Amino acid sequence: MQYVDEKMVASVLRMADLIPVMRKAMIDFSMGKIAQPPRRLIEVQPHGGFFGSMPAAGENALGAKLVTFYPGNAKINMHTHMAMIILFRPETGEPLAIMDGRLITEMRTAAVTAAYVDAVADSGVKGLAILGAGVQAKSHLEALSIVRNFKDIRIWNRTAGRAEKLAAETDYAQAFISAEEAVRDAQVVVAVTSATKPVLAGKWLQSGTKVASVGWSGPNCGEVDAETMSHTVIVDSREGTVADSGNIKQHNAPIYAELGEILAGKKEVRADATVVFDSIGIACQDIAAATLVLDKLAL
Ligand code: NDP
Repeated sequence: MQYVDEKMVASVLRMADLIPVMRKAMIDFSMGKIAQPPRRLIEVQPHGGFFGSMPAAGENALGAKLVTFYPGNAKINMHTHMAMIILFRPETGEPLAIMDGRLITEMRTAAVTAAYVDAVADSGVKGLAILGAGVQAKSHLEALSIVRNFKDIRIWNRTAGRAEKLAAETDYAQAFISAEEAVRDAQVVVAVTSATKPVLAGKWLQSGTKVASVGWSGPNCGEVDAETMSHTVIVDSREGTVADSGNIKQHNAPIYAELGEILAGKKEVRADATVVFDSIGIACQDIAAATLVLDKLAL
């Protein structure tokens, strides 16, 4: 059995390859080809952490991710999300690899959002607002630039200095002091914060905006408000978001479709609809991404 550390993952995993793999994983999941219970999360008290287990089984990939989320790590300059992924051979159940899952979590999340934006946003969109300036914000900037040619990128963050730093590293980007100003003129809005209260208000959105809410701080918290969630809501997993998503649970938001149903062409969203993708992250994304890494290492 192979041990794959983060350096090995980084040596082969490319965002442009990952986006189509995530697209297929989401379709397979929504078409019932993957067996996957909702993730199980336990709180790690008194340390303020979460520990999650996320198994998934499909015809070509089998495994589980164990993930930790310690928001307080930001204060000690450590990653807030860390993970290990174990892969098994689907045909025999034989263990294949133990893989560091931190970078996979970082990249697969943004790759899924990119697949969403590619499916629902007009091909000519130029304006992107990013709320947050952490690991996911940076990864989303990379992934979204692959599917659209954004020329007006607005970054807002609770700590303004981090938004300024990220904007300085990013082409066509500017930091904004006010989230409202960042969002007002954007056609695509991505929230990637660990906010426990909404940082995005629906009244700021122009009609037809495509929104993604990726941050998660617990099933009783949400980073977007009720008005945002009153639009057409797409989720990665119905079962998972109903169990775990603060955005869905707090606002009792009706779910229109899973992303896999949209990507498979089973459901459609109107081009002029305001759409919100509520992403909590699901196991089949990790297992498909880790399988891609293993395949590439074997080449
Ligand atoms: P980081 O720790 O790198 O960044 C956290 C970001 O959230 C920072 O911009 C931080 O701002 C901001 N933030 C934290 N607390 C608050 C608050 N109370 N109000 C407003 N902003 C706040 O985390 P990641 O970038 O890795 O993850 C971002 C979010 O995405 C997390 O909630 C995480 O759980 C979620 N996530 C979702 C996944 C999915 O599949 N859907 C997968 C992985 C992560 P500041 O700089 O001021 O501290």
